[in-house]
Amino acid sequence: MNPANPRHPRILTVANQKGGVGKTTTAINLGTALAAIGEEVLLVDLDPQGNASTGLGIDHKDRGISTADVLTGRATLREAIVDTSVPRLAIAPSTLDLLGVELEISRDSERAIRLKKALQALGDGGPERQLSYVLIDCPPSLNLLTINALTAADAVVVPLQCEFFALEGLSQLLRTVEQVRSSLNPNLVIQGIMLTMFDPRNKLSGQVVADVREFMGKKVYETIIPRNVRLSEAPSYGKPALLYDLKCSGSQAYLKLASELIQRERADHARDFALLS
Ligand code: ATP
Ligand code: MG
Repeated sequence: MNPANPRHPRILTVANQKGGVGKTTTAINLGTALAAIGEEVLLVDLDPQGNASTGLGIDHKDRGISTADVLTGRATLREAIVDTSVPRLAIAPSTLDLLGVELEISRDSERAIRLKKALQALGDGGPERQLSYVLIDCPPSLNLLTINALTAADAVVVPLQCEFFALEGLSQLLRTVEQVRSSLNPNLVIQGIMLTMFDPRNKLSGQVVADVREFMGKKVYETIIPRNVRLSEAPSYGKPALLYDLKCSGSQAYLKLASELIQRERADHARDFALLS
């Protein structure tokens, strides 16, 4: 449940302009973990690669209406949503059509708020399902798609790979978040920085964890996602790792992350409430 407003979903954007850092793996498995603990979740696939859609087993023939249609105004978000094999987890899938969207909407004065508007309209016509979380999977770029995702969001989840260049590009991402906050979305916060692909046998992994914690402090989640081959195998079966192998270390870590994230949401809300009262 969104503690700040139980009638509206909490919107979290998974973003990092670096490629292959675990954004989609996080969107899929965090979404599944949240659904597993009772949340009603929508995943919005905003990457033309469509990896989140494929990883959740959405066939191309079932992507008749995609997020590209939503952003260009040809369809509503509600029309794009399809169920997944995970109870309480639905997805608005993407197709390669998203590649052309940026150009198509680039002259529109509302080009950066199209996803936000689509999400706001989701409740129109009565609640089909009362969503509690929306997760947005971004492409590896700070393009207009990512800007739409940041503008629509309440908070950002940033996955960082436990490798030498982990922090490279983070300041650019944080600057972009700051720009969006100062212009389009004053309420945007960083929900947390998530360390992933941790390999305990690799000395460097431990050093990266220490550096990132030193640099980003409490923003870094306690939960660290290990490097786990089951997480990378699952998408080829069109399943989240939590359905493919619930007991594997990767699935267990994403379950832990989901409860840490929910606790953080509640703590932030309690703090805001205390400041107001
Ligand atoms: P892109 O920027 O291309 O969208 P991404 O940031 O979404 O990439 P993923 O697709 O989630 O990254 O992950 C990149 C690759 O690493 C994939 O093959 C994925 O299966 C694998 N992977 C992700 N997380 C882990 C992990 N914790 N352990 C092992 N493999 C992982
Ligand atoms: Mg991805």
